[in-house]
Amino acid sequence: MARRKYVKIKDQDNVVVVVQDTPKGTELMEGLVTGQDVPQAHKVALADIPAGGEIVRYGVVLGYAIHDIKKGDWINEHMLELPESPSVDNMEYGTNLVPFEELPMPTRTTWMGYKNAEGPAGTRNLLGIVTTVQCAAGVLKVAVERIKKELLPKYPNVDGVVAVTHPYGCGVAINAPMAVIPIRAITNVIRHPNFGGEIMVVGLGCEKLTYDRVLPPEDINSENVLTLQDYAGHDAMMNAILEMADKKLQRLNKRTREELPLSELLVGMQCGGSDAFSGVSANPSAGFAADMIVRGGGTVMFSEVTEVRDGVHMLAARCPDARTRDRLAEEMKWYDDYLAQGGVGRDANPTPGNKKGGLANIVEKAMGSIAKSGTSQIVEVLSPAQKPTKHGLIYAATPASDIVCGPSQVASGIGLQVFMTGRGTPYGLDISPVIKVCSRNEMKDHWFDLIDISAGDVATGEKTIAEVGTEIFEFILAVASGEAEPYSDKHGFHNDMCIFNPAPIT
Ligand code: CA
Repeated sequence: MARRKYVKIKDQDNVVVVVQDTPKGTELMEGLVTGQDVPQAHKVALADIPAGGEIVRYGVVLGYAIHDIKKGDWINEHMLELPESPSVDNMEYGTNLVPFEELPMPTRTTWMGYKNAEGPAGTRNLLGIVTTVQCAAGVLKVAVERIKKELLPKYPNVDGVVAVTHPYGCGVAINAPMAVIPIRAITNVIRHPNFGGEIMVVGLGCEKLTYDRVLPPEDINSENVLTLQDYAGHDAMMNAILEMADKKLQRLNKRTREELPLSELLVGMQCGGSDAFSGVSANPSAGFAADMIVRGGGTVMFSEVTEVRDGVHMLAARCPDARTRDRLAEEMKWYDDYLAQGGVGRDANPTPGNKKGGLANIVEKAMGSIAKSGTSQIVEVLSPAQKPTKHGLIYAATPASDIVCGPSQVASGIGLQVFMTGRGTPYGLDISPVIKVCSRNEMKDHWFDLIDISAGDVATGEKTIAEVGTEIFEFILAVASGEAEPYSDKHGFHNDMCIFNPAPIT
């Protein structure tokens, strides 16, 4: 297939995005010559647009022209005014329900996972040690290094040991209404599917986040929890942690992978460092993979409130009932209020890098971001760090911040995350493997050993969304099954557990 020069998404669009850096005077198509040098992924006007006129991409009004724009002109982020956010009141629902049978058939229907007593299966077999307070983090990090060196070699069936050292636990308004979010995140991460039901919690002893806030009474015992202030000095506390870890590792070592249906798989989708191609190549390809997982009975979660807010009416159309639509509206309103309390609006997103990548504003970013959810119905809407109760496509509200969305989805129990990027990020998570998909081939050429899959051939017109989507789906199952390792894990590039805490710090 010949490489194309530009990408037009919908017939009614009055802009296109250029596939390469395009010099001034280039004939993009018959009768259209670029008026300026246009950077890769940036927009060009297809017709004269008067001041106040609509700028349309994805069939959606991205904004209104501040000044007259001539046919062939480069349209950058300074040239359009942001439209009003769509209202979340009385949104129409159920008007775009793609029948299950029309979703793409998965090319593989089973995977090899670690079955759990309840909830989704694990993609890894890890000993997870969770702190109740950041004060214990230094001790735990040192202890985990020793566990890896001194104990882990004895247990070949265990993939690793993770110190879950989040910033929460003390010096916080623990009874504030919004504190339910960080507390729920820690409660749920203790039970992460990749930890196989083995509970190991390390506290300091005087923190506000007491064991009874994250564990039921029957689990609070000397088998599962360890309080640093109970031990006399360094050696005693290290020995206690290593001793408890050894017992947990013995049990985890008995776990083995077994062939499981896709209904045992929970996958998270996220994007970050997006550009104007993210919505053309990487996100729709990931969306195709998401549709395949849903068609196979599995569960896919997407998030990032500020990046779907401007397309919320499109998500409501995919809700099958009023209850799901109402839950979606609730989460959007909560976030609108949260931003308002901080004195900002949704235009606090995108970033300078997003803009350099051709994304003019949050409306354009949202249209690309939503594409990673595929086309299926939204069966459930969750608050941050809640666990799904259904199979299918789930909307789990989280911040769009990469390093906060990741831990929120981990708390919700994802076995792995697929992460789409345009500009590039080394992001990874130590609890759930992260597969990185880039939107342009230049990104893959540049970061050949950091990005797992390039969807760039979709941007150039050399591959279809279905082709790259199938490639992503097959890699998801290979990574989930332990048959492949994404680059973030090969290099050990893992971000911190930055759980979402919208409540006050005291
Ligand atoms: Ca993000």
